[in-house]
This record gives sequence, C-alpha cells and structure tokens, in this order.
Amino acid sequence: MESFEHATTIAAPARAEQPVPQAFAEEWEHMQTIIDGARESELYFYFRSLESGVEPRIRSRGRDMLLLAGNNYLGLATHPLMRARAIAAIEEYGTGLPGNQLLNSHTPLHQRLEESVARFKGKEDAILFPSGYQCNVGTIAALVGDGDLVVSDKLNHASILDGCKLSGADLRTFAHNKMRKLGEILERSGRYRKRLIVVDGVYSMDGDLADLPAICDLAERYEAIVMVDEAHATGVLGPTGRGTVEHFDVTDRVHVVMGTLSKALACLGGFVAGSRALVEYLRHSARGFIFSTALPPAVAAGALTAIELVDAEPWRRERVWANTARFRDGLRAIGFDTGRSVTPIIPIMVRDTYQVSEMAQVLDRMGVFVCAFFPPAVPPNRSRLRVHMTAVHTAADVDEGLECFARAGREVGVLG
Ligand SMILES: *Cc1c(COP(=O)(O)O)cnc(C)c1O
Repeated sequence: MESFEHATTIAAPARAEQPVPQAFAEEWEHMQTIIDGARESELYFYFRSLESGVEPRIRSRGRDMLLLAGNNYLGLATHPLMRARAIAAIEEYGTGLPGNQLLNSHTPLHQRLEESVARFKGKEDAILFPSGYQCNVGTIAALVGDGDLVVSDKLNHASILDGCKLSGADLRTFAHNKMRKLGEILERSGRYRKRLIVVDGVYSMDGDLADLPAICDLAERYEAIVMVDEAHATGVLGPTGRGTVEHFDVTDRVHVVMGTLSKALACLGGFVAGSRALVEYLRHSARGFIFSTALPPAVAAGALTAIELVDAEPWRRERVWANTARFRDGLRAIGFDTGRSVTPIIPIMVRDTYQVSEMAQVLDRMGVFVCAFFPPAVPPNRSRLRVHMTAVHTAADVDEGLECFARAGREVGVLG
C-alpha cells in the first residue's frame, strides 16, 4: 500500500502543448463547445460519481441516494458468495491471464463457465467474450459476410448494428417488431447465400419484448437463422430466468442465443450459447474472441456463482417482478406514461426534452438517481427518464421512488 500511495504522488512532468492538425482540432473543439453548453445549463448528467457498492442505497458525490437505475436486476453485485468466490479466484490465479483462451488462458473456471452457460441456456455449448458489445460484433461478423443478408430491428442495441456493419453483409432494418416488413425483406432475399435475423429479446430503452414466435416462423419459412440478444433477459425473463427464448418457449428454434454476464449476473463478459457446431465455428473464427484476452479469473468465478444463484435463490426473480409491477402500476396511477414496458426496464416518457432534464435535476436534488435519455439516443420527441427495478429494492424504496416522481412531476409541470 505504501508504495502505491507513493506512486500516485509523483508529479507529472510539465509538457509543452502539442500541436494538433486542424481537422482533428476542429472536431474536438466542437464537441467541447456542446459539452460546456450542456454543463452550464445543468443538462449534463454524465459521469455522476458512484462511491459505494451497487445497492438500492448508494453514495454519489458524497450524498446518500436511492438508486433507480442500472442492470443489477437480481441484486447479485454485492452478494457475499459472489464476493467470496471472486476473491478466492484472485487468491488462486491472480488478477489477469497471460492471453486468450485459444492459446494459453483456458482455465478450469472458463471450461466450467462455458458448460454452465450452455446448460443454463439449454444448448450444447457456449463461448465467452470479454464484453457483450464485443460478443455481438465478433459473432455477427463471423456468421455473415459479403454475399449474405443480415436483418435487424431498428431498435436493436448499438453493438448489434456495429456488428452488422463490420460484417460486410447487406444490412436491412425493419421498423420495431413490424413482422410484415420483416416478411417482405425475407420474401425478396432469394439471391443471398445466408440470411441472419438478429433482435434484442428485451429492448433496453423501452422494456418491451421481441415477437420471437413470429420471427422464428418467418426464419423457418425463408431458411434464415435467428440470433437473440438476451442481455436484459438473462436471469430475469422466463419461468426459470433463462431469458425471452424460455418465456416464449422457442429455445430450440433460436440458433444463436447471445447474452451478457454483465447485467443480472453482475460481472462482465458476453456469451453465445448454441449447437456444438456453431460454437466450435465461432471459437475458431470470431475475431473478437480469438484476438482478445480471456476473462479475468475473478470474473469467471463470479459469473459461475451468479448462474448458481439464479437457480438457488428464485425469490430474487419473484421480487424483481413484484417490485416492477408495484412501481409501474404506481407510476401509471400517478399519471405517467410508461410506454410499452413489460419488464423491469421502465421508461417514463416525458417527450419534452427540457422537461426531462428538469425532472432529472429535481429527482437528483431529492436524492433519487435515475437516467435521462435524449435524441439521438432515442427517437425525436421520445425523450425519457428510465428506471430499473431490482430484487433488492424494498417496498419502502419503491414507494419512496413513487412519491419523489409524483413530487417532481408536479414541480416540473408534466402531471396535470
Ligand atoms: C448492455 C448490452 C450489451 C452490451 O453488453 P456489455 O457486456 O455491457 O458490453 C449488448 N446488448 C444489449 C441489448 C445490451 O443492453
């Protein structure tokens, strides 16, 4: 500890300002002007400091706050067994590994985690990536390319869109959940060698679900395969928390089940579960897997533990859904519009961008931490606040949140 503290006090040497070519400088300065403007008008809600573990009660900027934002759906991030297993893995292996799984870093923890993810998802095998983002990019780019077609819902996560672009396949998008449009695209796809349909299971801005049964019907009719991103569904959706594919009972009709270890499972990493043939193919072709360092042992041990806890503590899933119903019904009773939400992701649609930021400020002053979204993160006139419910919010937390929303809504004038 002593030497660490010493290292942080070494003064940085003074440097002369380095000239920047004009084309770069203009872009950087333009961005800085926008950011400064947002900060001055108190419209800037990024990088609010988190100074505690992720519980419903957090510390931020030295204040105690009620956290109503974030993906810790089951409350596992600070679970004693998660901490203990992660620490034990560090004691055994240290903090990091010497390379990728392919060459030198496939530990028994990685082997067990792959098997556990596959079993959990009802598939033969699974592959791990360092993040969900990288998993989508690496998987889509490995599955399709030049001469192929990839079809994507317009509201899919950015990592899916980036994967589609990187793949080099022709990209077609359909308006959110519009099955007629998806059908038309597939109807005219005869000239392509391979067709991949990719959707989110749960949509992260609206909290609604993909129409998976209809998507599977179309895929089977037109010889496409389906990839579902279960980032927000893993541990939460379906009778045993396996995801939206379990919720809709289409596990055997979805070829590529993608998910993350970073949301309900409270660690970091992405995965694809599928047939042995698919996973072996990805292990030897997905560049995001091959050219990236294996998950740290503590992360693999934590994720293994989280999957055990999803089954061992089903009360967490029951609680997250009970809290979701209590909060969403409460918001609607007050007069808020919660859009299409049917999951623990609850948007509060305020539309007027200025009122959204005012609401966010008032709530922040009341000690309630929520996230606000403005275009281009959401479509024009679809600005919103967004709340996540978790298993570890108490009924009192939920009611306090509702009370603050009601007061803030009246103060800002978005409630009648
Ligand atoms: C969060 C998220 C990802 C990215 O996962 P990370 O592990 O955070 O990189 C991918 N897809 C969806 C739908 C997400 O919400």
